[in-house]
Amino acid sequence: MTIQKSEAILLAKRDIRETSAIVAFCTRDFGKIKGLIKGVRGPQAKFGLYLREFAKFDIVYYEKQRTDTYMVTQCDLKYAYTEIAEDFDKVIKAYYILELVDKFTPLGEKSPETYDLLAWILDFIAREKFVDSGIILFELKLLEYSGLLPSLDFCTGCSKRPGREGYFSVRNGGLLCGDCSDSDIQAIRLSKGAASSINMIRKHKVENLGRLTITNTVSKELRMLIDKFIEYHLGEHLKTRTFIKQVGTFHSVASP
Ligand SMILES: [Zn+2]
Repeated sequence: MTIQKSEAILLAKRDIRETSAIVAFCTRDFGKIKGLIKGVRGPQAKFGLYLREFAKFDIVYYEKQRTDTYMVTQCDLKYAYTEIAEDFDKVIKAYYILELVDKFTPLGEKSPETYDLLAWILDFIAREKFVDSGIILFELKLLEYSGLLPSLDFCTGCSKRPGREGYFSVRNGGLLCGDCSDSDIQAIRLSKGAASSINMIRKHKVENLGRLTITNTVSKELRMLIDKFIEYHLGEHLKTRTFIKQVGTFHSVASP
């Protein structure tokens, strides 16, 4: 039985039985883990008040035999992004972020960069008034870390640098030039500005993402592309994304 400790952000929580919950954490040191946590509700609740979304914890857990669900024995609140919980618009967007990380991250695969990216975007959402451009930066970085976003310098059909006309093929996960665009009739026209924004985002480290600005036109284009891309890879609509669409709160306002 190995006892592990790590800083972690809660991704999802599902109550089971009277006092327990199944939780998914994105940990800094061990990637995503799934755990059983006892005593979260009821009169003797140990963690109830503190097991909240949009917060960093120090957790302690150990492996159970023959299962990938760990026992979480300690869960100490380290930092809460309180500004998120106070704003409905921020809450639903932050839930979307958590759902995305949960869906795109495999269990038990170390990825401190994904953890830092998640902490970065929660901090960004807590701090900024307009958060949608930050979410685009986050999504593209997450796709890159998941190995799904290649460099857009060359056409995936003929390996040449595309001229004026470029298309993004969700199926190929890359760029098609004008000559090759027929190979995927669903390929989406991609402006030079959007292509160079994606390449720029790939080159920046997480801690420097906040320095990037995306114009309104490019952010609209990227929004559409990212939605298609995510839907293609997950094969489903994210509940939180559908909700955001319904209440219409994704703005195309670029943050300063
Ligand atoms: Zn080509």
